[in-house]
Amino acid sequence: MIVVLLGAPGSGKGTQAKFLSAKYGLVHLATGDIFRSEIAEKTPLGIKAQAYVKTGKLVPDDLVTEMVAARFNSNEGRYLLDGFPRNLAQAQSLSSILVHENLSIDLVVLLKISQELALERIISRRVCSQCGEVYNIQTKPALNGKCRTCGGDVVLREDDFEATARKRLMVFEDITRPMIAYYQSESVFREVDASRKPEDVNAALSMLIDSIFAKS
Ligand code: AMP
Repeated sequence: MIVVLLGAPGSGKGTQAKFLSAKYGLVHLATGDIFRSEIAEKTPLGIKAQAYVKTGKLVPDDLVTEMVAARFNSNEGRYLLDGFPRNLAQAQSLSSILVHENLSIDLVVLLKISQELALERIISRRVCSQCGEVYNIQTKPALNGKCRTCGGDVVLREDDFEATARKRLMVFEDITRPMIAYYQSESVFREVDASRKPEDVNAALSMLIDSIFAKS
């Protein structure tokens, strides 16, 4: 099963993807998380990607596509893509990768959210610098700046500063939004209102995935 989660930064892709991958046993492929860990480990890929991620720009397609292709393993076949594809060229590369792996997309879901709410969520977001647990200063605060799970420092992501967050939202509108049209005409495409509470979005997404399992 291949599920693709699309949505603006702040739409809750990461939160929903963690929940869904655990519930349905899908391999969670989150390109943003992979870049952040490669950057933290100062790998050659991380060094190349750093300046793009920090300034809210898209990392060049060849680096992203190569990284994603290397993580597909035909024996697996159950993936949840979070943050990829983000433009038309990447969507086309994904099709080629899937053909090569003899796989096809079962569901593409757009998490719909207004720009205002997305921005509010991004600038309220904090993350644990050690385990990556996500917090929100209003709805899920850390404990005196420390992670409730591992005790690590809970910080503002470098690309979540307001100016960079606004830029990422612009990149989504200008570059990713046109790609969504590529999927919109396909039968696997669905939309979910992501302005609701995470549990309600979880439930809506679970219903969509359950309906695919029921068909297969
Ligand atoms: P995210 O955590 O998904 O918001 O991604 C954080 C950053 O990683 C983005 O702002 C980009 O700099 C980079 N990134 C993640 N996924 C991609 C992608 N598919 N194409 C290009 N850049 C990406």
